[in-house]
Amino acid sequence: MRAAVLHGFGDLRVDEVPDPQVGPDDVLIDVTRVQPSVTECMLVAGARIALHRRLAEALAAGPVRFGGHEFCGVVGAVGDRVRRYRPGDRVTAVETLTCGHCVACRHDRSDACVRPEFVGFTRPGALAERVVVPERAVVPVPAGVSATAAAAVQPLAGALHAHALASVAPGETVLVLGAGVMGLLAVQVARRGNAGLVAVSGRNPAKLALARRFGADLVVDATGTGADGTDPVLAAILDATGGVGADVVIETAGGSPRLGLSGVATLDLAARCARRGGRVVGVSVPPEDVPVPLGLFRERAVSLLHPRSGAGGYSPSGSVFAHALRLVARADVDVESLVTHHLTGVESIVEAVRITSDKAAHGAINPAQVRVGVDWGRS
Ligand SMILES: [Zn+2]
Repeated sequence: MRAAVLHGFGDLRVDEVPDPQVGPDDVLIDVTRVQPSVTECMLVAGARIALHRRLAEALAAGPVRFGGHEFCGVVGAVGDRVRRYRPGDRVTAVETLTCGHCVACRHDRSDACVRPEFVGFTRPGALAERVVVPERAVVPVPAGVSATAAAAVQPLAGALHAHALASVAPGETVLVLGAGVMGLLAVQVARRGNAGLVAVSGRNPAKLALARRFGADLVVDATGTGADGTDPVLAAILDATGGVGADVVIETAGGSPRLGLSGVATLDLAARCARRGGRVVGVSVPPEDVPVPLGLFRERAVSLLHPRSGAGGYSPSGSVFAHALRLVARADVDVESLVTHHLTGVESIVEAVRITSDKAAHGAINPAQVRVGVDWGRS
């Protein structure tokens, strides 16, 4: 089959690779749609973010299969011991696979697993025609969810984790910094969750218009400065809260300026926009050696939180992925409007990475999606 192979930083190709083998507990999925994540694009470019060192070590030994944890597909085959899925089922999968055997896993705290695997990184992922994952990682896609939406549900799970981590209480003010895909998902989750006033800042008029459509009460153009030279976002949130600041700030705009992101300035801004004793959830992925304005956080007693990834779990009977898919199926959250770029054929993975690596330059909101197989209908 054909799959994405990283030959060196900045050199991703689509090569012929061996077909994946299906073990007794595995599910083989024919990929319908896949999108490179922004984090994957940063790693391809050689950015020094988490996992960079491991990737550099692997590349020193030769080309590596790389990427593909945001996808959906149709079950093509199942292992002997698989009972819950059969060929033809529409599915997606969680990206973080816990080991199931370590002390944390044995004590029902798999979020602290010491040996997690990551689809598309420590094991081959779905930037390919086919992918194999263990049955426990598979998540069924409910009726009414398009392939476009199903392939884009992993970032929504991330937005749900951020909201849960902030423990947004009824009526609290939530400010979202950044109106990219994570910001626009955070706005929708806050609106459907406990938040009172939902505010969002951004620089792109079309994205800010979407934020307004998604129910944001206060939409702030982050360009320029306020009347007295202050930051326009800080001025707007102080004005809206009687000078107090936001209870919760969800920071989604930071990251490498090379990818059209705001560096670390928005983390500093987040600390200033939060009320005393407020919470900042850092969703963006900063470089490992980034300076953090800890003095400002300490002085204002603002907590800095980081959401975990993966399906996680807050309920023993349901996963965050399944919840995210239900929100999409019920049209509570609109994921599809965020998908601006659709490409066709496994060969176009390289082009999708190129677009996603600089979404601002291409007018993209969500990562560019690649149609690998035939899309399913809606029912
Ligand atoms: Zn474990």
